[in-house]
Amino acid sequence: MRVYNFSAGPAVLPEEVLKEAADEMMDYRGTGMSVMEMSHRSKAYDEIIKDAEKDLRDLMNIPDNYKVLFLQGGASQFFAEVPMNMMKNKKAAYIITGQWAKKAWQEAKIYGEAIDVASSADKTFSYIPDCSDLAIPEDADYVYICENNTIYGTKFWQLPNTKGKDLVSDVSSCFLSEPVDVSKYAVIYGGVQKNVGPAGVVIAIIREDLITDDVLPGTPTMLKWKTQADNDSLYNTPPCYGIYICGKVFKWIKKMGGLEAMKAHNEKKAKILYDFLDSSKLFKATVRPEDRSLMNVPFVTGNEELDAKFVKEAKAAGLENLKGHRSVGGMRASIYNAMPIEGVEALVAFMKKFEEENS
Ligand SMILES: *Cc1c(COP(=O)(O)O)cnc(C)c1O
Repeated sequence: MRVYNFSAGPAVLPEEVLKEAADEMMDYRGTGMSVMEMSHRSKAYDEIIKDAEKDLRDLMNIPDNYKVLFLQGGASQFFAEVPMNMMKNKKAAYIITGQWAKKAWQEAKIYGEAIDVASSADKTFSYIPDCSDLAIPEDADYVYICENNTIYGTKFWQLPNTKGKDLVSDVSSCFLSEPVDVSKYAVIYGGVQKNVGPAGVVIAIIREDLITDDVLPGTPTMLKWKTQADNDSLYNTPPCYGIYICGKVFKWIKKMGGLEAMKAHNEKKAKILYDFLDSSKLFKATVRPEDRSLMNVPFVTGNEELDAKFVKEAKAAGLENLKGHRSVGGMRASIYNAMPIEGVEALVAFMKKFEEENS
């Protein structure tokens, strides 16, 4: 029996995708082998990776002057790739809206001057700071954001005013959750294990002019974007199986109606949960209403023992992984694309029952 899985990542995937992958496990379309067992240089695999890129380009309407790279190392390795490939002046502006932004900022400091131009640390990252007029240095190479803050449940609903500088965005936990205008960014990237596929793949969408040989001295061959771009993400063995599953998820999203439909689906789910939280006497959402994420919804009762009891009883009721991140406590429901509306309804019904029994 499958549970409703509210994990922040690795996270729920569409059942249709899992079933299809299961059907193709022993014999992928007459090749007599699984995708895990085939050469990444084979004709069958070439089709898989090319199709995946094409479907992603269709979904996100990616302009021709952007490359799509399928990489490894997690979003965390990309924290270093950004300065290695982009810090020509050795200076960048970081907006600190949570742990992932902070980690990226700390990583960038290894390579140059990374300036924290705004932060919401003063209120436990429960809001997005005003980014309309930041002190961005004239010679900054880029401005960096974490667009959806997985741990704290905030989302940039308006991109920062970068004063003409290139914008780099970590979208790990909001990838493909809604339409985006790719042309507003220099780099969009994310680990796929939150909303798109299995762990082990990072997708990066990079404006072509940023892909050059002019990288910081000492940049490893593998971490140089040009190496990956020149070889269509096949410089070495890519995370083949993970890319294959991502490709299936892209097709699933297309079938569901694309990113507009995903956004409507996600808004509907989030509204059910936030409306309940805002009306509840026991549970409270922790994020300022205008900055709330559609993907990650943290909430608390205000009583740690009661929080623990809730998580335990929810698990027994088939609602799994509702414990908040270890750094913040409380609860967090991650309601990514593949979480059905029934899952959110079941969660709210359970919360109502718990509230009645515990107040
Ligand atoms: C999970 C997460 C990361 C880290 O991803 P890894 O693939 O584990 O390195 C980075 N940024 C955001 C926004 C995340 O949610």
